[in-house]
Amino acid sequence: MKDVVVVGSGAGGATVARELSIKGLNVTLIEKGPFSQTKNAYEHYENVDVGVELLKTSCVGGTTLVTAGNAVRTCQEYLNNMGIDLEEDFKYIENEMGVSTLPDSHFGKGTRLIIEKAELLDFNVKKMPKFINPKTCKPCGKCAFGCSRNSKWTSMEYVKDALDHGAKLIENTKITDLIINNGEVKGVKSSDREYLADNVVVSAGGIETPRILRRAGIDAGNNLFVDTFVTVGGVLKDIQFNSEVQMNALIKLDDLILSPHFSTILLDKLKKNHVRETDILGIMIKIGDEGSGKVREHHIEKYSTSKDVSLITKGSAVAGAILKEAGVDPTTLTSTLARGAHPGGTAAIDEIVDRNLETEISGLFVADASVFPRAPGAPPVITIVALARRLGRYLENEF
Ligand SMILES: Cc1cc2nc3c(=O)[nH]c(=O)nc-3n(C[C@H](O)[C@H](O)[C@H](O)COP(=O)(O)OP(=O)(O)OC[C@H]3O[C@@H](n4cnc5c(N)ncnc54)[C@H](O)[C@@H]3O)c2cc1C
Repeated sequence: MKDVVVVGSGAGGATVARELSIKGLNVTLIEKGPFSQTKNAYEHYENVDVGVELLKTSCVGGTTLVTAGNAVRTCQEYLNNMGIDLEEDFKYIENEMGVSTLPDSHFGKGTRLIIEKAELLDFNVKKMPKFINPKTCKPCGKCAFGCSRNSKWTSMEYVKDALDHGAKLIENTKITDLIINNGEVKGVKSSDREYLADNVVVSAGGIETPRILRRAGIDAGNNLFVDTFVTVGGVLKDIQFNSEVQMNALIKLDDLILSPHFSTILLDKLKKNHVRETDILGIMIKIGDEGSGKVREHHIEKYSTSKDVSLITKGSAVAGAILKEAGVDPTTLTSTLARGAHPGGTAAIDEIVDRNLETEISGLFVADASVFPRAPGAPPVITIVALARRLGRYLENEF
């Protein structure tokens, strides 16, 4: 039986580990961060501010622990045109995660107001599909801190499945290097030991995966995208939007999306005027940014191109118009800095990995947001899971 090491237990890594262990392979899942209760995930944010603030968490389950539960198929047509057909994987995953829009009971006053006023302004508004169980979810607005009721899908569920099928989990262990011999991968190294394997799947996320690959001589780390976003908001007294399910609706414009969103950064900017967190209504503007960034060993470069800036500006103007219509005091409208919660593209398909996600080093694969050929401009988790599930099938057939 072949041995497989998977590096990282987020959306991509947990999925591959689960698929392969279910098929009876010897899987070792190595995770840099600790095991954390989902409700404490916020303690494991490992953000980096490189002009655009990049958000990710480092713990078992990776960044899936802090998602807003949004389940959107992204890049499906684009990947399909490359011969990567994910339809069956998407259907399977959506069914398993119970993807659905939430019932009316889970739409708060602020969200309903945004939907109503956006429609009045002729925008097409849809409810956001979620991997949130409405039977156990009690809206609190804290998805991005980690769910205290375990009502949201996270890759922790797949980690548990993998363990139930015999996989071994090694937490608090950062993989630093790959072991390579004659162009073939033979395992991985941490600071104090080696883990030998016939195949290695690197799933350390869009920032750390390229660093591991680069140390092995692979020219990864270029074309970094982050799905840049800002949240625009202002004062609407006692709207209590901060404790509603966040991002519960979706407005798609040509190159960007808008979604109702509260940010504590808005509170920091507005609180000198005695504004409380219950007094803010906001909308997130998210774009599929150009791959203008770069990841290197000791630094990350990322800037917004003029196209990115013009899209954010256009989205902010639309958000401002909707918020004003909703009753927000227009003199209080303000915006967060640019942030990015979907780093990827740094080991892209057809650049660094082939269409089976294998690198130029035989037996070395990548399964995470790094492989996206371009910015999705929308929540990527179920696409990462679909790609990783497909890789699991491919590897199983190889063995
Ligand atoms: C606040 C927030 C909200 C979000 N909401 C949504 C949403 O609603 N829907 C959606 O689709 N997406 C959402 N996202 C994005 C989504 O969470 C990520 O795109 C996704 O988790 C990325 O998956 P990944 O496998 O690439 O990386 P990750 O999930 O980040 O997993 C990478 C793992 O690798 C580990 N690792 C890193 N380096 C090493 C190393 N050297 N050795 C061992 N382990 C290592 C990390 O600790 C981490 O656990 C959100 C992100 C944020 C920050």
